Amino acid sequence: SQQGYLNRQARRESNARSYPRRIPIAIREAKGIFVTDVDGNQYFDCLAGAGTLALGHNHPIAIAAMQDLLQQNLPLHTLDLTTPVKDRFVEELFASLPSAFAQNAKIQFCGPTGADAVEAAVKLVKTATGRRSMLSFHGGYHGMSHGALSLTGNLGAKHAVANLMPDVHFMPYPYSYRCPFGIGGELGTRIGCHYIEQVLDDPESGITQPAGVIVEVVQGEGGVIPSPDRWLREIRRMTRDRDIPLIVDEIQTGWGRTGRLYAFEHAGIIPDVVLLSKAIGGSLPLSVVLYHKKLDRWSPGAHAGTFRGNQLAMAAGLATLRYIQTHNLVDRARASGDRLAGHLRHTQAECPWIGDIRGRGLMVGVEIVNPEAEANAIGSYPADPTLAREIQGECFRRGLIVELGGRHGAVVRFLPPLIVTAEQIDQISEIFDAAVR
Ligand code: PMP
Repeated sequence: SQQGYLNRQARRESNARSYPRRIPIAIREAKGIFVTDVDGNQYFDCLAGAGTLALGHNHPIAIAAMQDLLQQNLPLHTLDLTTPVKDRFVEELFASLPSAFAQNAKIQFCGPTGADAVEAAVKLVKTATGRRSMLSFHGGYHGMSHGALSLTGNLGAKHAVANLMPDVHFMPYPYSYRCPFGIGGELGTRIGCHYIEQVLDDPESGITQPAGVIVEVVQGEGGVIPSPDRWLREIRRMTRDRDIPLIVDEIQTGWGRTGRLYAFEHAGIIPDVVLLSKAIGGSLPLSVVLYHKKLDRWSPGAHAGTFRGNQLAMAAGLATLRYIQTHNLVDRARASGDRLAGHLRHTQAECPWIGDIRGRGLMVGVEIVNPEAEANAIGSYPADPTLAREIQGECFRRGLIVELGGRHGAVVRFLPPLIVTAEQIDQISEIFDAAVR
């Protein structure tokens, strides 16, 4: 029985595990946007591997690519050696990138997870620049390994294991609902950029020459916070003027989720380093760092690893990329995201505890607030994580899996697969509306 599975899990697996605590099911089957538990209950999966499953669970195209590879006796484990599968994956990955970036780019395969790409990128820019400090942003999320955690803005995840990597400095991110400057929109963006520039130019700040700046175009775990294009362009200008490598963490945003294949394309910038994971493995683990060749200053073996370049993941990933491109899933993500946000705004109009709805493409966040508390200077109410958890629980009971995020854990996050249909978006919105009410 389901309870039997859950009891065994509770006995064997630490309570520190994350998702299953609030999603108490044993999953028997998964297909597309749906997962089915061992009792036969079906759920819309709007967590989708924390944004990993661009094509949903077990897409036939990804499965066929993996089966093909297994049936042909192609090598599964090759350390860093190349294979025809890897060669094709790299070719088409490069072709998918803006040519101004791709023409100067090199690729480094990393360990299986996103955090591995973050670790590699930090070593890369430190080696290339000879500098030691890093600049990151409040609310940013880059992973749970020591280096990646050091760059993560959320203190809650860090205090138990500090000290971490030294010399990481944090700057305010343009969180317009609770803008750190008390001013949202255009003016807030300008003041925010001006502040960062002043700090970079202040010889007393100790951050004048970081080895790199790492940023998410849309903060995901941090509460689905899109950065204004103008802000990102300013960050690019400042870093270029000062010869500071700009690392764009596209681990969650990459491959169409935000309505562009790569989220940095919204602002039209060209980063020095791009990090990819999640969707690129077609549901299997894979991560890469793509970087300007001028940064390729490390010596052979400077960043080794046994499980870099998972062939099965590359086969599934390549099939996923082709499907995204041939089926226009990038445009569809934009349209589906707009449709979802539109429905959510209808709910918001009658539910004052929905403080903010924001996102880009199929990264949509709903910030739950307490409207009875006092609003701050720009009219935003305090986050209400308890209510957010209740809403998440009610969604689950009604057949919808959503995750929470944000600095206070009060942002309901929707990350459905890009293949979600308009009809499914409507059904998901109806469940959420009923749960919230
Ligand atoms: N960066 C970003 C932007 C992420 O969203 C995540 C995962 N949520 C990571 C890095 C870390 O990836 P992983 O969990 O695979 O280590």
